[in-house]
Amino acid sequence: MPKEQRQTSFWSIDDAERTYRVKRWGNGYFEVGESGNLMVKPRYDQPDLKINMQEVINEIQQKGIEFPAVVRFHDILRSQVEQLNKTFRYTIEDANYEGHYQGVFPVKVNQMREVIEEIICAGKRFNYGLEAGSKPELIAALAYNTNKNALTILNGYKDEEYLRLALLGSQIGRKIIIVIEKYSELLTLVKLSKQLNVVPMVGFRAKMMVKGRGKWESSSGERAKFGLSLSEMLNAKKLLEDEDMLHMVNLLHFHIGSQLTDIRAIKEAVQEASLIYSRLYQMGVPLEYVDVGGGLAVDYDGTQSTNDSSCNYGISEYVSDIVYGFKQTCDLQSVPHPNLVSESGRSITAHHSCVVTKIIGEITPGGNGYNTRKATGEHIIVTNMRDYQQGLDKDNAQETYNDISQLKEQAQQAFKLGVLTLEEMAKVETLYWKTLENINDFVVEQEFISEELKEIEETLSSQYLANFSVFQSAADSWAIDQVLPIVPISRLNERPNKRCTFVDITCDSDGKIEQFIGDEVTANHVPMHQLNKDEDYFIGIFLTGAYQDVMGDMHNLFGRLNEVHIVSYDDDPKDFYIEEVVKGNSVEGVLSTMQYTPEILAQAVKKEIDNEIARGKIKPRQGVQLIDFYEECLAGYTYLKI
Ligand SMILES: *Cc1c(COP(=O)(O)O)cnc(C)c1O
Repeated sequence: MPKEQRQTSFWSIDDAERTYRVKRWGNGYFEVGESGNLMVKPRYDQPDLKINMQEVINEIQQKGIEFPAVVRFHDILRSQVEQLNKTFRYTIEDANYEGHYQGVFPVKVNQMREVIEEIICAGKRFNYGLEAGSKPELIAALAYNTNKNALTILNGYKDEEYLRLALLGSQIGRKIIIVIEKYSELLTLVKLSKQLNVVPMVGFRAKMMVKGRGKWESSSGERAKFGLSLSEMLNAKKLLEDEDMLHMVNLLHFHIGSQLTDIRAIKEAVQEASLIYSRLYQMGVPLEYVDVGGGLAVDYDGTQSTNDSSCNYGISEYVSDIVYGFKQTCDLQSVPHPNLVSESGRSITAHHSCVVTKIIGEITPGGNGYNTRKATGEHIIVTNMRDYQQGLDKDNAQETYNDISQLKEQAQQAFKLGVLTLEEMAKVETLYWKTLENINDFVVEQEFISEELKEIEETLSSQYLANFSVFQSAADSWAIDQVLPIVPISRLNERPNKRCTFVDITCDSDGKIEQFIGDEVTANHVPMHQLNKDEDYFIGIFLTGAYQDVMGDMHNLFGRLNEVHIVSYDDDPKDFYIEEVVKGNSVEGVLSTMQYTPEILAQAVKKEIDNEIARGKIKPRQGVQLIDFYEECLAGYTYLKI
């Protein structure tokens, strides 16, 4: 089918929406624009404020910032903080719940200073605090969570130094709650508290019976890594009573796992925890707070299902189940409604950042192709292959596919037996892949793909080479098969006629993305557009703000990405401005982390160059240019400059 005809075949932005499900995973923040560009609506309370992602890219380019880049939308972060806090407020009001909500953001989900600052700032009027799970996170939290009414919840295993730091926090007037994960921590804490004469607030983390659902379900249950069993909790109570310190205990904590895909797990956990709370309260433990942990899931694949990368509930259902669940049990047990704390991390940060990168090439099984002109006396296999290509039409696509697949096998046999020449074999291959491409044009037009055509689809899918590293920017897609939405930034008003997977620029065969948003199961490829000559093709990898942003490693010494912080601004013609640019790692930066000294590297190469100059192999002027170039590369970005 000629190209022109394909371009005009009907395709609307609604089709793009159906294909990429932008609205479904976008949580109201993303949509396909009339122009065919991806649009960002960073403020849920200002639906008319729309930022064109292509314009963001243009501005990044004008500033001379290289891709790949992390693009952060600070307004989305603020919106998410507000939404969570307001949902709790309104639900608590509606339910006549007598406690209040006071959430904390778990620092481990995104430790970037700018992210923490924005969250603290947006959460100020809600007394929204921080959760830390390690000494370094606590050290950051102590400096940043300065609102004296906000909580700082401390989880994770603790040594004496960690506990001392926590007490330092109490001493400077912070509402620090030390959550006991392990019985022995309590012994150290009691000792320190007496020594330093500081009375901390203490929480008990319950080892829950209920299992979370999804990838992180081992976070709860008898074999869970963290928490006190019921007997340990009772022993802890006894110990504190004996020490006359029971008044320190004011929080019950549980966390049954991240990305809880099924709302039923949350309902069950609330039921269990509300009973533990009630019983402990009745026994005289002066609990004021219950912390329901994290786990509020993100619908990465937009299926609203219990898929690992999805969830079958939304934020209001989640909040209702917690508020009404506690109210019911507490009323039945005649105990006060506790204040509620939650530690949602993923759902607060996932949407606010994405990785934007360029497709820098296509890896096709056929390569560039060879001149297939008919040669006199050519082998019949070559002629047959050419005939198949010429005789292809819509109705015989499947049949042609079967025939050419068989013929190609015959050709390979013939080549191995020395019957086909190298040139003839190259022609057979070229014709084979060309025919497949033509078949592809028929296949992509089909709404529903038959089982038979699925194989063709598989054979025909292209590998798009993207300038990024999976290990740095999408670690969970490699480690735990996390599905992240990947969408072209522009041309969404054009039918995408290629089915693609992505490979990154690391030298690792695992450096690829082959799982995409699907229906019941994940899809093996995602539709993308044909690359046009002399035209950049940008894709966005979305929902990378939780964990992905900060978990990446330096595989192949590809370092952290350049970062661009976008803030919406209604009076600006483009509705945004770039507030800040954070430069990614330079080559010398990543080399330094591996114990190299850039100056010594440059000296070593310079010495070699000087030797060659002395031997007359390199002209002095040339030598200077070479060393300048080496030094320039040392200072440069680690990704490809394409
Ligand atoms: C990781 C973690 C969280 C964050 O969980 P999300 O699923 O990202 O909301 C909260 N609390 C604790 C104790 C955690 O370990």
